[in-house]
Amino acid sequence: MPEPSDVVIVGSGPAGLTAAIYTARANLRPLVIEGEPSSTSDQPGGQLMLTTEVENYPGFVDGIMGPDLMAQFRGQAERFGTEFVARKVGRVDLTRRPFGLWIDDTTAAEPDLLANALIVATGAQSLMLHVPGEDLLLGHGVSTCATCDGFFFREQDIAVVGGGDSALEEALFLTRFARSVTVVHRRKELRASKIMQDRAFANEKIHFRWSAVVTEVVGDAKVAGVKVRDVVSGEEEILAVTGLFVAIGHVPNTAVFAGQLDMDEAGYIRTGAGTTTNVEGVFACGDVQDHIYRQAVTAAGSGCMAAIDVERWLEGQKAV
Ligand SMILES: Cc1cc2nc3c(=O)[nH]c(=O)nc-3n(C[C@H](O)[C@H](O)[C@H](O)COP(=O)(O)OP(=O)(O)OC[C@H]3O[C@@H](n4cnc5c(N)ncnc54)[C@H](O)[C@@H]3O)c2cc1C
Repeated sequence: MPEPSDVVIVGSGPAGLTAAIYTARANLRPLVIEGEPSSTSDQPGGQLMLTTEVENYPGFVDGIMGPDLMAQFRGQAERFGTEFVARKVGRVDLTRRPFGLWIDDTTAAEPDLLANALIVATGAQSLMLHVPGEDLLLGHGVSTCATCDGFFFREQDIAVVGGGDSALEEALFLTRFARSVTVVHRRKELRASKIMQDRAFANEKIHFRWSAVVTEVVGDAKVAGVKVRDVVSGEEEILAVTGLFVAIGHVPNTAVFAGQLDMDEAGYIRTGAGTTTNVEGVFACGDVQDHIYRQAVTAAGSGCMAAIDVERWLEGQKAV
């Protein structure tokens, strides 16, 4: 059996790496399971690896590229002795102490790793359209976060795809900067609440392209247009926009904890006081438990909280 680590952190986005910096500096020798390289946000470094400029992370007057920011986080965690495993956790057993984690063969009888305390910082992923041009132009006119990127689209014509409350929230926020915002929705009516619809319909910068789906994001180095197809007539046209905000939802990366950690209907982990979960000794931080703010700085803040919660909890265990 492996020796148990004091604390294992699952996830290496802003939340997980901040938790690592704090627990490492508290001499808890954290082990970070950082995820595996992939083309999605479910990769080492998390969602900021998918973006270009980050202008709202405090401390960087001139902004910083997302991957550079995450390299700084990682370097700082490493400096204080954090160890990393570039793998994904495929199974956990939170009914036993120390907790068991499987990273290789999830069918093996014994876990690969044991943890006295566990911090879950597995983040979330934006649902994407999976149309040509989307991947290539992500961070170059395609975005999933109006709060993060709206500022880059001053006096431009842009499109938002989606029909729920979040899509209209994004569209309304974007009218602060954009010249016009076209909401592309595949049906003739919105799923959003009445109040959000009223606000959107009353805003003269917002237009609607009903019964249409995005089939391609056009452009080489940045967005030059968005191709849409009318679902009734089948006709295609190119919207002359320089930005596309994809607002069709998010999924938290929590499948591996299903049935063991309490979650809401959408699969976000429910936290109680601070970062506590329903399992004593397991803490959750960042986007995996926050579907409201979804920012790097709030994720980092809650990573700090999780580290302090773990430190105090482990101290309390020694006294028992
Ligand atoms: C395109 C884009 C641009 C953005 N721009 C900004 C911005 O400008 N400013 C800002 O503040 N915010 C921005 N955000 C939001 C910000 O990136 C997130 O709020 C933040 O990254 C959340 O941090 P997190 O640590 O909670 O999770 P994430 O960053 O999602 O990291 C999750 C981590 O968990 C790992 N993981 C998942 N499942 C497993 C598993 N089973 N085993 C092991 N590891 C696992 C992943 O590999 C990853 O390392 C942007 C997001 C996107 C998508």
